[in-house]
Amino acid sequence: MTQRTERRSSRLSGFYQQPLADRLATVAAWAGLDEAEQSVLQGAGGLSLAQAEHMIENVVGLYALPLGIATNFLINGVDYLIPMVIEEPSVVAGVSYAAKLARAGGGFSTSADEPVMIGQIQVLDLDDLESAAQRLWAARERLLAEADCCDRTLVSLGGGARGLELRPFPHTPAGPMLVVHVLFDVRDAMGANAINTTCERLAPLIEEITGGRVNLRILSNLADRRKATATCLVPADALATGGMSGSQVVRGIVEAAAFAQVDPYRAATHNKGVMNGMDAVAIATGNDWRALEAGAHAWAAREGRYTSLTEWWEDEMGNLRGRIELPVAVGIVGGATRVHPVARVALKILGVRTASELAQVMAAVGLAQNLAAIRALATEGIQRGHMSLHARQIALAAGASEAEVNEVARRLVDEGQITAARAAEVLRELRERGR
Ligand code: NAD
Repeated sequence: MTQRTERRSSRLSGFYQQPLADRLATVAAWAGLDEAEQSVLQGAGGLSLAQAEHMIENVVGLYALPLGIATNFLINGVDYLIPMVIEEPSVVAGVSYAAKLARAGGGFSTSADEPVMIGQIQVLDLDDLESAAQRLWAARERLLAEADCCDRTLVSLGGGARGLELRPFPHTPAGPMLVVHVLFDVRDAMGANAINTTCERLAPLIEEITGGRVNLRILSNLADRRKATATCLVPADALATGGMSGSQVVRGIVEAAAFAQVDPYRAATHNKGVMNGMDAVAIATGNDWRALEAGAHAWAAREGRYTSLTEWWEDEMGNLRGRIELPVAVGIVGGATRVHPVARVALKILGVRTASELAQVMAAVGLAQNLAAIRALATEGIQRGHMSLHARQIALAAGASEAEVNEVARRLVDEGQITAARAAEVLRELRERGR
């Protein structure tokens, strides 16, 4: 707790205008990064080929992405700087701006379920689903005790088996099927390995009890026992723009949210914006963003129709309120979180002490990222802010050097013609003039 009260504000005014080296120095001082940790951020991805060799198969190289820092986050009264790894321009700037808006209303309030994951065991070739289910239910204490034998470390840390659920599917293309859910508290891990080991260990016992045949034994990515929730309030005044009053912007945002609620075509894009932020934090911290994506989208479709992950409404004072709730299966131990050197530094910058705290931070980031997108869409549109960075990317892709990129990008934006072909022409003209 002492560390928390000593932390400075994450409201780093002018941070984006600082040269890169100064920005790093600011973050290093803020998070107490030593020389070695700072140099990890400055290498090409911070990962050595030797480390990569141990992570996946058939390695031939490394792939680096930018790591940016989102500022202004105040969550449950605590300031956070948020490391984000992403290739898309405007995400980090957008989320920082939205966090500033939420800060004007007291920041984000978050909560999370216990870190309980679901393992699934598929049982087939059963004569009678109901009596098999009854026998399993009668043996549940024995099954849960067996599950607790798999990962003694987790049990000693307060995790372990929490319950059993039985899901009969009498009519499937593969015949009658009984699916056994094992609920398991994985504490600070994402938990895939503990769950999968448990499922494999329980399978022979389940076959013995039911007389059936077990096929799949694997965790579910619809981690709906492990949800995180974030809410925020943005004072209407803070949303006023040059051309629109605060209450007009509130109305525009609420209308945008209603669009995503009723129309899956819009909800997909709306939720993609949420995941822009959450994935970027997942990647920065070495977490499995595909697992996060799978859980989020399955949750968004839980009622049989794909819908929005967030809600936005106007309160009785005319202010904007927002809420997100979704499964967030992430860890601060295990997987790549402690293996990837940059992930270790990212976790230190975040300063989270539990996986639950990380999940809550990520929910706040998802809500803020969504606010950034729909605020821009409901006001000036997203292209204006996006275009200068986009033009820089186009200029770099056309072969512009560090010294040329700003000039090429500026010309593309001024001309309103941000295309690869025009970038190549501008670059040619620039180089001919320079000869
Ligand atoms: P892991 O097995 O590397 O580490 C978790 C283990 O660390 C725990 O089981 C426990 O024994 C130990 N531990 C030590 N301190 C702990 C603490 N405080 N809290 C909890 N555990 C602690 O990691 P994992 O989280 O099981 O695996 C995550 C990886 O599994 C992800 O990177 C993911 O890519 C991969 N994976 C995902 C899926 C899927 O999503 N469907 C399937 C298979 C594998």
